[in-house]
Amino acid sequence: MTRCPHCRELAVRHPSRLWTAAHALAWLYAFGSVLGASLIGPFIVGLSVPLLFGGACLIAETGRRAWAPGECDACGKYVAHRLTPVVTAPAGKLRPTGGLSLGSR
Ligand SMILES: [Zn+2]
Repeated sequence: MTRCPHCRELAVRHPSRLWTAAHALAWLYAFGSVLGASLIGPFIVGLSVPLLFGGACLIAETGRRAWAPGECDACGKYVAHRLTPVVTAPAGKLRPTGGLSLGSR
């Protein structure tokens, strides 16, 4: 879980990374079904519809779940990006950086 940028609660759930693997498997199924369809000859007429819609549904659904935005359990808002935790240094460890150098003019 990560922190919500809207309500600051530690309650943002992101989709599992296994959905990305499932999406890759769905593409493998689609390629495999095209290869298999080329090998079975005229029987493809009856199998083309379930193969086509099965592959299309698998690719669409696993892609939707793999790249869905995270959702906060506390406020219900979406969090578009995975936020990395911010590491802050203790006050005594901070030192000025000298600002930006934009040339010697
Ligand atoms: Zn929230």
